[in-house]
Amino acid sequence: MSLLTIRNLSKAFGGVAAVNDVSFEVRQGEILGLIGPNGSGKTTVLNMLSGFLPADAGQVTMQDRDITSMRPDKLAQQGVLRMFQMTRVFTRTSALDNLLTAGMARGLAEAEAMKRAQSLIEELTLGPVQHLDAGQLSGGQRKLLEFGMCFIEPPVIAMLDEPFAAVHPVMREVMAKFIRARHEQGATFLLVSHDMPVVVDLCDRAVCMNAGKVIASGATRDVLSNHDVIEAYLGE
Ligand code: ADP
Repeated sequence: MSLLTIRNLSKAFGGVAAVNDVSFEVRQGEILGLIGPNGSGKTTVLNMLSGFLPADAGQVTMQDRDITSMRPDKLAQQGVLRMFQMTRVFTRTSALDNLLTAGMARGLAEAEAMKRAQSLIEELTLGPVQHLDAGQLSGGQRKLLEFGMCFIEPPVIAMLDEPFAAVHPVMREVMAKFIRARHEQGATFLLVSHDMPVVVDLCDRAVCMNAGKVIASGATRDVLSNHDVIEAYLGE
């Protein structure tokens, strides 16, 4: 079943068509990879889907509700969360309190927020640093904290832009395990990644962009072995 339907989305910067008539769907409960060489328009698509950029043309619907160009805070209220930009980490507040605050901001009672925060701290291996200010955490630990903040109340869809970039391998594995576990519980992800092993490992399906257009979509392995996709990456 389609959760998000993206139809004919376009965005130009100056004369450059960064995203040019892009259509695809994100299905309920899947991890969809959005791939493509540098500059192909992936981040611009994500920026439009998460309300950070208005679309020039096209339509985004979530289960038949038009959410095109809705503002990020409104989208967040609808459960459309973009990680690493939507989630605000307070650098002078402890990791645990950041989670608590995120939970309460999403409408949880304090006791429930605390219960979930503690369980997420454990799952995300943040126990040893839970009382440190978030500003003192490593980049990878901060990303893990942001995962926790996003999932303290399960989102309808989580959009991730290169979540594994520049993260220590040990924390990458914690992150991947977290994504898999939430996927098994039915969570839906849109994952922008340049990292093919990650895409093969995690994504049920993939959409590949090149020069602002979708050039292939379908089962991950089919997309990665598609002739046009290989050409696009070789030309990078
Ligand atoms: P990707 O995420 O696939 O690397 P982007 O969406 O970042 O691609 O970029 C697509 C194209 O749009 C590129 O040519 C990029 O230079 C251009 N672009 C992206 N954002 C802007 C902007 N704010 N102003 C001008 N050009 C931009």
